[in-house]
Amino acid sequence: MKITDVEAIVLRQPAVDEGIADGSQDDLIVLVHTDEGLTGIGEVDSAPEVAAALIRGNGSHAVAIGLRELLVGEDPLDIERLWQKMYRGTIYVGRRGITVHAISGIDIALWDLKGKALGRPVCELIGEPKRDRVRAYASRLMPETPEETREAVAELRAQGFTAVKLGWGPLGKDLGHDLALAAAAREAGGDGVDILIDAGLGYGDDVERATYVARGLEELGVRWLEEPFEPDEYEAYAALADSVEIPVAAGEQDATRWGFRELLERGHVDIVQPDVTRCGGISELLRIADLAAAHGVPTVPHAWKSGIIKAASLHVNAVLPEALYQEYCVAETPINTELTVERLPIEADGTVAVPTGPGLGVELDFDVVERLRVDGR
Ligand SMILES: [Mg+2]
Repeated sequence: MKITDVEAIVLRQPAVDEGIADGSQDDLIVLVHTDEGLTGIGEVDSAPEVAAALIRGNGSHAVAIGLRELLVGEDPLDIERLWQKMYRGTIYVGRRGITVHAISGIDIALWDLKGKALGRPVCELIGEPKRDRVRAYASRLMPETPEETREAVAELRAQGFTAVKLGWGPLGKDLGHDLALAAAAREAGGDGVDILIDAGLGYGDDVERATYVARGLEELGVRWLEEPFEPDEYEAYAALADSVEIPVAAGEQDATRWGFRELLERGHVDIVQPDVTRCGGISELLRIADLAAAHGVPTVPHAWKSGIIKAASLHVNAVLPEALYQEYCVAETPINTELTVERLPIEADGTVAVPTGPGLGVELDFDVVERLRVDGR
């Protein structure tokens, strides 16, 4: 089997609210086509047109090559070698950031393709599946007021979730308000629901402010504090993580095992959150999880986009040594709720099942793709 084309399709809902941290309003879908008629699907959570250009565009020379031209003619089943080829072929323009985001989408598509070729789900190809369902946490933006927060958590609890993460929005501006919102969430969650707080970079590099909030969240019994600081503020991360009991989580902005080595060894974080559509794909997420495990740190993949990222993260969660949670975006955007035929619903016990079909076990709804695509017509 040979790769005949790598297609990058940009999707965007008709009106995007750029003021909210909701990346499920647009998308970059990657399709890896082959001469045997099989196609693998992947997804990139990044700036879609820019990542698409890195795939489609002509490169320059040996270490600045377009990703599509690196792959056409290759055997798609040789994923490890192709990952290295993409990484080495884009050293000047890559190593981290948007090139690795683009590589991530291709890597996911290659795993989907391999699963389809072998008639097996991805989780059986990447390790020993340890579970067929994973406890989900509902992931949504933090409302503005305690009243709205109580309502939001009560609604998610009624849907069956046993864990809820609230993030970004107003957090980071007023410490008292941050704790009031978290207290409202804990109250509405009661004993049955874990509450996770995502500060969305809200404390910049200010260890004192973050420590104050972390201690308050500890008293409330919040399960983790995510991204209190900007991603390069490793010393702030270490100072906070070393001095508070509440686990400090981070990593959705990072990519590759080398990026996470910094976060672990300099930042001392307690939980890492690589995003499979940005960190280097399924292949690299597994290497990051291995590295984190060697530091005694669990991996909880970040996931906020469509059914593709949900499925890819579920397959990884199926094989991790421990799978604390599956992040479950509850944004009511068409990309989150309609892009894949399979909707991966929450079960009554608050878990979500790992897809069992070949590859990722989800297929694109091409009517939705056609409705939302903004280029390549
Ligand atoms: Mg986050």
